[in-house]
Parts: sequence; structure tokens; C-alpha cells
Amino acid sequence: MSLDSERKHKPQPSRYDIAGLKADLDGIPLIDEPQVVRKRSRDFFWYSPILNQELADKSADIIACPRDEDEVVRVAAACVKRRIPLTVRAAGTGNYGQAVPLEGGVLLDITALSGIAWQKPGVVRVAAGSRLLDIDMATREAGFELRMHPSTKRSATIGGFVAGGSGGVGSVTYGGLREPGNILAARIVTMEEEPRILELRDDAAQKVNRAYGTTGIITALEMPLAPAWPWIDVIVAFDDYMEAFQAGYAVALADGVVKKLVTPISWPIPATFGALKQHCPEGKSILICMIAEASLGPFKAIIGRRGAVTYEAPSEEGPGTVPLYEYSWNHTTLQWLKGDRSITYLQCMFPHDRLIESAAEMIARFPDEVLAHHEFIRFGGRMTASALPILRYSTPERLNEIIALHEEAGVMIANPHVVSLESGSRHKRADADQLGFKGEVDPLGLLNPGKMASYVAARG
Ligand SMILES: Cc1cc2nc3c(=O)[nH]c(=O)nc-3n(C[C@H](O)[C@H](O)[C@H](O)COP(=O)(O)OP(=O)(O)OC[C@H]3O[C@@H](n4cnc5c(N)ncnc54)[C@H](O)[C@@H]3O)c2cc1C
Repeated sequence: MSLDSERKHKPQPSRYDIAGLKADLDGIPLIDEPQVVRKRSRDFFWYSPILNQELADKSADIIACPRDEDEVVRVAAACVKRRIPLTVRAAGTGNYGQAVPLEGGVLLDITALSGIAWQKPGVVRVAAGSRLLDIDMATREAGFELRMHPSTKRSATIGGFVAGGSGGVGSVTYGGLREPGNILAARIVTMEEEPRILELRDDAAQKVNRAYGTTGIITALEMPLAPAWPWIDVIVAFDDYMEAFQAGYAVALADGVVKKLVTPISWPIPATFGALKQHCPEGKSILICMIAEASLGPFKAIIGRRGAVTYEAPSEEGPGTVPLYEYSWNHTTLQWLKGDRSITYLQCMFPHDRLIESAAEMIARFPDEVLAHHEFIRFGGRMTASALPILRYSTPERLNEIIALHEEAGVMIANPHVVSLESGSRHKRADADQLGFKGEVDPLGLLNPGKMASYVAARG
């Protein structure tokens, strides 16, 4: 570490009354070892060269690890009393510094709040810090699983997914989290002198969806479930990327074919796929899919002679295995980043009414600079494709120019190189009055400050 960066990362004296806070939180596990606090104050923002600079020196002052909802209430009340910001952190797999405390204060580790409260056919109620993999393992016993999960399922939590994510594996069938019905209820603790506990049901639950924890601390969630099929992981290789895309689109549109993942990825991205490389022939673009065992025949009939199946095996996600979905969504980007940190990525949503044309148009426009990787997804009831292309990064100006050129062409961008909800989330954001709700539940603006940038504290 250089002298400069040592000075930059040296713990600064806190501007908050941390000693007083510690006394208030007596009995609740706390961590104040600067190196640990700094490490846990980070997430996967380093995917972005811009955020990597901007957020490098941000850190909380202390981590609080409540073990139940009563302790969450105590932490919230103490922070409000002393006007100390509070940022919730779960598994810390978010991408844009979502869980990075921009103004220091308390990092609230929610992961001890875990476990299934109850489940019935089609619905599960869970503590917010539960790991997605654990939820699926518990509900699968009754023949159900979560409708969708991020590709980080093996480490991420349900609270982090609802507060920070947007969709993922399963969204080709059920759409994203923002679609009505994909979050049934959320229980939250408010950030007030006397914190309230609110149950947000149906539409109201969307007030915490992808709000980065700025509109309440989620302690429990009720989520709808889908039938748990035996899933088969399949890779199909194609000579040409648009052939992979069109075959994927046909599979996505086939309502009778039960699927969970339909992901075309252009060559040379598969060249970075480590253990999977042997199934990714040189020079070929690929389509990776999760197909219900019972639908494999119809799936192959759709693929026909367009491509060659190079891999087919039951999905495995236990310890020691790497599931195929860990090559999809933002894991595709991660595979490349493992060997080359010079690239970055975008998050796009293509227009459903000229999907093939606009995908082809963007490929032709940036042939070597933006490498195609799409994810078929339902959006507002229509089949379309989101995309997380790999972008060969040069300068911030060129990055912004590429974003603007996409938007001019009708491709929506949720900018992963900014920290605020307003400039980043765009099409991924729920259709709910999150700003108005924040005034009710966090009037001082202490929850993850700086992320809902348009919020002006109601009183000081
Ligand atoms: C390789 C990779 C692949 C990814 N793939 C996907 C994908 O397919 N789909 C997708 O949507 N995302 C994806 N992500 C982003 C991220 O993994 C998911 O959104 C994940 O669900 C976040 O969960 P987490 O437990 O890590 O949350 P964290 O990162 O800890 O938190 C995320 C945000 O939620 C807030 N938060 C967490 N818990 C609570 C709570 N209980 N109450 C209030 N606020 C809370 C935090 O303050 C933060 O703002 C990916 C990220 C990486 C690095």
C-alpha cells in the first residue's frame, strides 16, 4: 500500500457519538475493529472503475449485529436518538455500493435474522437475513421454490434481493421483483425515535423493493413460490450470436416449455468460463438454459439444427459444485473480471416490440467495444431481453457516450456506475411512492444516506 493510500484508509475519528451508542447497545454484538468494519463496508462496486475510485475510502464506524427484531428496534432507536446514519448490510453482494455507508455511522448486519417462519403451498414467510439457497432447500421439500433468484443465490439473502436486486434466474417466466405479486408482504422497522413495526402487504410491499434499505429495515418477507421442477442445465453452441439469440427468443416465447434461464452469450465471453470451457467450443456463441426435465424434448425440437448441444446435466448447487446459473446474469461479467479487471459492464433493457432488430443494431454499432450477453425476461407481461454486456472500458466520457447512444436507440439503461437510486435504478425500480414513504418512516433521512438522493430530510 502506498503512503498516500495508507493515509487515505487510516481510520478517521468519527463525527458521531459512537461511545454513547455503544453504551445504548449494551448486550448487542458489536464490531469496531477498523479493518473488519472497512472490509464489510464494501460490496461489488469495484465492477465499476468509476465507483471503484469514488467509494474506495467509505466506511462505517461500527457494525451492529442484532439477533432478533427487538434488537433491530434498539439499534434503530439509538441511532435516531444520536442522529447516526444506519446502513443495512446482508451478504454484501450488491453491485453499486448499495450497502456502502457513504456517511459512515452504523452498518447493521442483518444476517442473524434468518429462518423460515412458515410455509404453505405457494407461499413462504422468512426472516430477511435468510440465505436464498437455504430458503429453496426448505421449500423444495414440499415441492416449491422461490419464483426467481439472483445468480448470487448461494450467498445472497432474501432481504438483500428485495431491497437491492431486480430479478434473475426465473424472471424469464415470472418477470422481475417489481411485477405485482412477486413480493407478497414485508415487515419493516421504521427509523424514528420510537421505531414502529409495519407490515406492508401487496402493493405496499413495493415501497421497500430496490430502495437500497432507505425506506425501512426489512425483518421479514412473504414471498410467492413456484413449482420446483427437476432442472436440467443445457449449453448449446452456435456459429453466430444472433442465431443463439433468436433460438433463445423462440424458447423464451414457447409457453409450454418450462424454463428458468435462457441466456445467449457472445464469443469471446465463453473463453473466460473456466471449468465450463470444455463445453464452449472456440469461436462459438452459446445459449445457456435451465429447462424442466419434462420439457427437454420440446426444447430440443425448438433448437433443432440451429445449434449443437454441448452440455446437458441435472442442475447442482450443493457445496463443491458450480451451478450453470453462476455463468449467467452478473456472474457472466465476474467470469471475465476474474482474469481481466480492465473491462466493465452495462445493464440494459431492450424494447419488446423490436427486440431482434435492436439487439442486432447495438451489436453492429459497438462490434468490439460492447460484447453481447442478453437475459430473456418478462417485463410488464411481455417477453423481452435485458442485457449485461461486457464493455471494454476506456474513459468515463466514452462510457457515458455509449449509455447515451443506447438510450437514443430506445434501449433503457440502469446505470451501474452511479450510487443513487434515481440515476441508477430506472426500469428496475418499483412503481411505488418510495420518496413519499421515506418521509413517513425515516424523516431524518438516516437510512443509507445519499442513496435516495432526492430525499430532503423533513426535520433535523
Ligand atoms: C456476481 C454477481 C451476480 C449478481 N446477479 C444478480 C442477479 O442475477 N439479479 C439481481 O437482482 N442482482 C444480482 N446481483 C446483485 C446482488 O447479488 C443481489 O441483488 C443480491 O440479492 C443482494 O443480496 P445481499 O444479501 O448480498 O444484499 P446486500 O448487498 O448486503 O444489500 C443490498 C442492498 O439491500 C439493502 N438491504 C439488505 N438487506 C436489507 C434489509 N433486511 N432491510 C433493508 N435493506 C436491506 C442494503 O442496504 C443494500 O442497499 C449480482 C451481484 C454479483 C456480484
